[in-house]
Amino acid sequence: MHGSSTRSHIQTLPLLFLLPSNHNSFIFMGALNFQERPLKLYFIPYPASGHMIPLCDIATLFSSRGHHVTIITTPSNAQLIHKSIPSHNLHLHTVPFPSREVGLPDGVENLSAVTELTNSLKVNQAVMMLRQQIQHFVEHHPPDCIVADFLFPWVDEVASKLRVPRLAFNGYSLFAICAMESVKARKDSGNSSIIQGLPHNITLNATPPKTLTRFLEPLLATELKSYGLIVNNFVELDGEEYIEHYERTTGHKAWHLGPVSLIHRTDQEKAERGHKSVVGVDEFLSWLNSKPSNSVLYICFGSLCYFSDKQLYEIASAIDASGYEFIWVVPEKKGKEDESEEEKEKWLPKGFEERNREKGMIVKGWAPQVVILGHYAIGGFLTHCGWNSTVEAVSAGVPMITWPVHDEQFYNEKLITEVRGIGVEVGAWEWSIIGFMERKTLVGRDNIEKAMRRLMDGGVEAENIRQRAQEYGKKARQAVQEGGSSHQNLTALIDDLKRLRDSKPLD
Ligand code: UDP
Repeated sequence: MHGSSTRSHIQTLPLLFLLPSNHNSFIFMGALNFQERPLKLYFIPYPASGHMIPLCDIATLFSSRGHHVTIITTPSNAQLIHKSIPSHNLHLHTVPFPSREVGLPDGVENLSAVTELTNSLKVNQAVMMLRQQIQHFVEHHPPDCIVADFLFPWVDEVASKLRVPRLAFNGYSLFAICAMESVKARKDSGNSSIIQGLPHNITLNATPPKTLTRFLEPLLATELKSYGLIVNNFVELDGEEYIEHYERTTGHKAWHLGPVSLIHRTDQEKAERGHKSVVGVDEFLSWLNSKPSNSVLYICFGSLCYFSDKQLYEIASAIDASGYEFIWVVPEKKGKEDESEEEKEKWLPKGFEERNREKGMIVKGWAPQVVILGHYAIGGFLTHCGWNSTVEAVSAGVPMITWPVHDEQFYNEKLITEVRGIGVEVGAWEWSIIGFMERKTLVGRDNIEKAMRRLMDGGVEAENIRQRAQEYGKKARQAVQEGGSSHQNLTALIDDLKRLRDSKPLD
């Protein structure tokens, strides 16, 4: 990639191509020359909300600095993405999704669009079949850099062939990645809940399932072959100590560019991320506006987690018993219009809706999470600790009740509670392989209610946690402002990529 013959990058352009003067990534030399060509970047997101939403936000970050960004995706995902991205410099390239080949209905192209295991496997199978078409496009129109989800390890080969840098993205915090690397380094493949060698002593509430560690290990290994890792977090939350640990133990570079949800300024922009909300944003806002500060508990388990009727019943009972006001997002398969009273009573105690008509909202489907978390009335978030949800709560200064379920969520729980002190644990002990899976154990209503009270009762412990959460919220917002750590990292990364491009030997 580094060569002696450098390509001249001073271009002379006709007057027509002069860009607006506020276009700060262009330096004009004389009247018509500019020294810096924009980068041409391709982004390849994995189609699941927790992966696609942040990677598209990261694509927007690059395009907002004047670079030419193309997101490569499939038609129905392009429709989802299209709403949430500004049009300047950001393009969508679509490749057809092989729905028929895998037996999915047309238009179902995202993991978050299915509610059970068989279809989720089919979505994944179809996504893995996209390689040839994406590769064909990339090879025929080579970019300066490819930013791809780590679930597409084959991008490594494509980027090497084209001799362009590849940046990896996996949607995890660096803290979680350090923990996974530590598990990976062990001979017993993580047969323990004690994570060794990290800057803090970490004992997880559950042992990482072998299926998960075996699945992740090769992906993490390929990730380390990339030019660098993009992290949707900010340095202050992961902590310098984890960045230093990661770079020292892996020899790999991590770029903290987040929290990326903060690029969306207005409520409307925030609400456009992901799927369409089942309740209008204005309805949420006017309901929340009628509530005092920090009084409402927001409950949501991300886009891939489905609880059994019995588990939902326990949550509902805890809401009833605690008496706090709430917004509770339940999976779409619940609460359908035609659900009978008998079906409903399997997951909702009798009379729950009537009792809580004023006190709460049950959202049956997708909620505009970032808008909700950003409202002053939200005082706590009962979360599955998906990384996006976590960093979105931190950005809004909202403390959390942690209820990890699958993937890397048990690591995030420890960052939230023991390491940064911005949440309390509900006491979940069962680490599922996927969110759809029926769990063997229930988290009981008493534990849930206890955790709700611990966070929301306004006592000394709750106030200390809230104060710390608010401090991290302030730091998150500073990080993405001009001069902040993430803002500076993006500038440094862009400079690096330009240097690589401009020192690439001519073919
Ligand atoms: N999300 C949302 N509304 C919902 C459910 C999820 O806006 O009703 C968004 C949430 O804001 C986050 C993403 O979907 O950006 C979920 O990602 P996360 O990593 O938290 O969890 P996952 O869905 O990957 O388990």
